Amino acid sequence: MNNINLNKNICPLCDTEVNENNKVDIVENIWKNYKNVYECPNCKLYFIDEPSQEELDFLYKSDFYIRNNNPLYKFIDNRMKYARALNRFNYIKKFIKKSDNLNVLEIGASNGLLLSLFKKENFNVFGYELNENARKTANKKYGINMKEDFLQDKDINKDKYDIIIMSHILEHFTNPKYILNNIHKFIRGGINSILFIEIPYTPNYKIASKEDMKIFFETEHTVHFNEKNISALIEKCNFKILDICYSEYNIMDSLKKNIWLGKLDFKSLVPFLYYISKICFNPNNSFIDYKISDKFNFGKNIRIIAGN
Ligand SMILES: [Zn+2]
Repeated sequence: MNNINLNKNICPLCDTEVNENNKVDIVENIWKNYKNVYECPNCKLYFIDEPSQEELDFLYKSDFYIRNNNPLYKFIDNRMKYARALNRFNYIKKFIKKSDNLNVLEIGASNGLLLSLFKKENFNVFGYELNENARKTANKKYGINMKEDFLQDKDINKDKYDIIIMSHILEHFTNPKYILNNIHKFIRGGINSILFIEIPYTPNYKIASKEDMKIFFETEHTVHFNEKNISALIEKCNFKILDICYSEYNIMDSLKKNIWLGKLDFKSLVPFLYYISKICFNPNNSFIDYKISDKFNFGKNIRIIAGN
């Protein structure tokens, strides 16, 4: 993804300058070169040294994300993705006043699963996705033609889209402010216009251990939000927040860390199997939304609906 106007010693959200004292950790895998993690002394955003274009292309244009070809794993992964998409779809729909002739745009639409749910209910769907194989799957499986990179698209229409979706995308950009300011130009405006953002929640050192914090930083994410700084960012980009909540797996806390890490121990096998049956037979109930609170656990996401 593109890195525009980024000075790596400046907080990408509030422009506060950071220095040696603001380094809190180092990420040594994921990227080709190790990255410092900074904590902005003003807005408390965690962010890393700017990745190179080569590092970003490796993550997003290659098939880095296909990690496991085991058929059982793939089956469970697909059911989980469907449950998650359905849950997002139903959440977004609560904020849509009418449903005919609305244009839905998803940035980073992967293989088009979430868009396909909108398509089934007669929304006009549009998507951007950097990964070529994912775009091909979207075309083959759901008949959705997606474009590659919205930042490079000279033909993208201003004021065209009623619903814009960015699900687990914003934390991958090194300059989320630039991205959201751009998005603002494409949204149509008015009562039916909404922006949906979902991002992983990152705790802080007051509530999580150094070891647990490292797990959050050792991801492909270049910025790590909490509900306060993501809200500040969205408002800075002239959107108005209509709803903000947490969303997570509807399971016991101890299992959330295992799912996050992709590790299962013997003790969590039975509750995990119970959860798989829920995903298969009651998918919409396999994720829950709830009010913002101070409780820390793994697998928590922040969901936001904003108008303009
Ligand atoms: Zn800041």
